[in-house]
Amino acid sequence: MSDIQKAAKIIQDGGLVAFPTETVYGLGADALNPYAVAAIFEAKNRPTFDPLIVHVADPFQAEMLLAHPFPEKALKLIEQFWPGPMTLVLPKSKLVPDIVTSSLPNVAIRVPNHPLALDLIHESGRPIAAPSANSFGAVSPTTAEHVRQSLGDKVKMILDGGPCEVGVESTIISFVEKEPVVLRLGGLPLEAIELIIGKVAVSTGSKDKPMAPGQLLQHYAPRTPLRLIQGSVAPNAKMGWLGLNNPPKGFGAVEILSAEGSLIEAAAHLFAAMRRLDEKDLEMIMAQPVPDEGLGRAINDRLYRASVKS
Ligand code: AMP
Ligand code: MG
Repeated sequence: MSDIQKAAKIIQDGGLVAFPTETVYGLGADALNPYAVAAIFEAKNRPTFDPLIVHVADPFQAEMLLAHPFPEKALKLIEQFWPGPMTLVLPKSKLVPDIVTSSLPNVAIRVPNHPLALDLIHESGRPIAAPSANSFGAVSPTTAEHVRQSLGDKVKMILDGGPCEVGVESTIISFVEKEPVVLRLGGLPLEAIELIIGKVAVSTGSKDKPMAPGQLLQHYAPRTPLRLIQGSVAPNAKMGWLGLNNPPKGFGAVEILSAEGSLIEAAAHLFAAMRRLDEKDLEMIMAQPVPDEGLGRAINDRLYRASVKS
């Protein structure tokens, strides 16, 4: 039996499999089996009010989970960006158990762009519900080793596909209202979306606005306190630096996200860099915001949420 066959059998039997996607590693279960999905929440210690994304092999499998055919603008995006780091939220069909959507009438769906993820969906013949494969609120895993460290004892199997290429979670777009709304900035840049369907509203939850389900402010957080740099800093040996480029002298540990200043490379390195700094016994991680464009928006969003105190 191949690894994919073994993993598919675990999914069919209601078990959990961690698998790579192009964004981050996912903790997967049969999306149509409410008991299997419940095990995801338990393993992650994730509150059941935080709904899951369902991973499918293609738009046809997605439509079976939806109450209506895709709206026209959603179809235009699908044509361009699936498989890829784009999740669509749409009214669900009765097939989708309530536990997947936290009892919302809508389901979040995407087609991941990773051969192992697609093989697993095909081989199991099931849509796969999968949040990131880490404990709730912690830094997302971008390698199989990260998954082993945080959930190694809770999953039956971890498929290893090497480091994730995109490195930040998918961009989430809701088609529940008349006009589309971006609910989470992620691996598909806003600019790319707007090129295809024109200007879209962004509503990612903020301190003063009531949040949509799952838009928790504190998230992606290392154990070491993380602060966003505003203005100048006085570095010391107990401080770590996380930034796009070179820090002033005096930091105890330094992580440079991209020597060339590439936001694509920076996104791919972000979570692994946060984890390495977290292991260094620092008192504080100082993070330098990146230019707020392209994947920089998703990076700044993650840094901001990592810096918010619960
Ligand atoms: P992840 O943490 O990457 O698994 O992504 C799950 C996130 O997708 C949730 O925290 C929500 O922000 C969003 N999401 C999932 N399902 C829905 C839904 N039905 N309606 C709105 N947002 C959703
Ligand atoms: Mg997550």
